[in-house]
Amino acid sequence: MAGEPQADCLFCKIVAGSIPATVVGETETTLAFRDINPQAPTHVLVIPRVHYPDAASLAAAEPAVAADVLAEAGRIAAEEKIDGHGYRIVFNTGAGAGQTVFHAHAHLIGGRGLQWPPG
Ligand code: IMP
Repeated sequence: MAGEPQADCLFCKIVAGSIPATVVGETETTLAFRDINPQAPTHVLVIPRVHYPDAASLAAAEPAVAADVLAEAGRIAAEEKIDGHGYRIVFNTGAGAGQTVFHAHAHLIGGRGLQWPPG
């Protein structure tokens, strides 16, 4: 059920502590950790502790938690000192857009020049 931990979800396992991660931020509702395959000097994933398959379904069901994810991404951007040059917060949504883990997550990417449009 949406909002409940899913036994086969990688990010639910990271929230539960059964799979290790390099954690850079924790709040009551979110967890932030470094991406295992970084695409930039700073590449952090900010996830809700609750399970929803993507950002839009999270925002529809629990808008305050979706806001927490964004606020935490901004806080970490400042902590990583990437806010001065700009950074990107990305929610890949759907396999066709590159989503591979179906637990909502924000990619916080920065620390290098970023092109637009993305590929
Ligand atoms: P998506 O492709 O937008 O769904 O993003 C999933 C991200 O999770 C990718 O950037 C992966 O590199 C990252 N990832 C997969 N497994 C792990 C892990 O165990 N720890 C940290 N990041 C992971």
